[in-house]
Amino acid sequence: AAEVEGTPAGARERHAELAELADDANWRYYVLDTPTVSDGEYDAWMRELRELEEAHPSLRTPDSPTQKVGAPISSDFTPVQHLRRLESLDNAFNDADLAAWQARAERLLEADPGPYLCELKIDGLAIALVYEKGRLVRGATRGDGRIGDDVTANVRTIANIPHRLTGEDIPDVLEVRGEVFLLVEGFETLNEQLVAAGKPPFANPRNSAAGSLRQKDPRITAQRALRMIAHGVGTWEGTPLPRTQSAVYDRLREFGLPVSELYKVVGDLTEIDAFIEYYRQHRHDPEYEIDGVVVKIDKIALQGQLGSTSRAPRWAIAFKYPPEEVNTKLLDIQVAV
Ligand code: NAD
Repeated sequence: AAEVEGTPAGARERHAELAELADDANWRYYVLDTPTVSDGEYDAWMRELRELEEAHPSLRTPDSPTQKVGAPISSDFTPVQHLRRLESLDNAFNDADLAAWQARAERLLEADPGPYLCELKIDGLAIALVYEKGRLVRGATRGDGRIGDDVTANVRTIANIPHRLTGEDIPDVLEVRGEVFLLVEGFETLNEQLVAAGKPPFANPRNSAAGSLRQKDPRITAQRALRMIAHGVGTWEGTPLPRTQSAVYDRLREFGLPVSELYKVVGDLTEIDAFIEYYRQHRHDPEYEIDGVVVKIDKIALQGQLGSTSRAPRWAIAFKYPPEEVNTKLLDIQVAV
């Protein structure tokens, strides 16, 4: 059989087939907001792609779905270039994955990476807000991480996003990253309304938030129960950046930005596990859907030392809870419609 750089033809063909499936799913999920396969199936394709690339590194090209974030944006909105690349997150599905992430950080830093900030992984879509001299000038979706959709007019209709920042020592330029989501109530009501109108419901909270935010008419966005919670910063110019992620959140709160109260700074893996287990039991306490816990190394200097891979920071990890039944049920309806 023909071999390129020692890679068997069978592996190359399977890789190409999976890459095409994943690219198509990404387009449907991120651009059309209407996935046609379950997250479980998609994640299985991605796992198989990663395994093939482990075994045959020549397959790991920059255009592989394993190396990319999101999908290229559509032409419905004006494209905007992000000040700094927006990333995805690597996943952990069990304690061993989490321990491996922590051990790698420790090895790379040659020091204890702690403390760690544990927070909820909100099932919404990523947004980047740019404030110049404290004034909101732009809101953009993640897109492929470099280029996103300009959704400024729609972002201005979200109830808890300030148009002007408050407080002292506001940075000259501040790019806040966060999650836009629908309140649980809003998601359920919206799907009931869609079904009543003979339209397919949204498959999951994230797609409903994305579909609601990326409306051509901001008046429709304004009618949806969208909110935002900040979970990071990109650019911070003109005043000193705080030294820890948790101190960044304190400052953002002072600026009048919405920051979650449901986070905890902890010292080691045992305490991280306790946070994950607590929210596994209390998954439905928050007013938004969550699909896991995000663990971040709290010290910004250590974050900088660890840096990022082509798609995700090495200083953070998403611990994913198993998907819930409701998603698949709605997906069945949607596929059937
Ligand atoms: P992700 O959802 O695993 O995680 C990255 C995102 O988490 C970030 O971009 C950020 O916006 C968000 N986030 C939420 N809370 C956060 C917090 N507290 N701190 C930091 N970030 C936070 O990765 P992704 O690249 O956005 O999406 C990949 C996943 O999407 C897949 O694993 C799959 O489940 C799903 N997907 C499904 C299909 C499909 O066809 N069903 C297609 C593509 C993707």
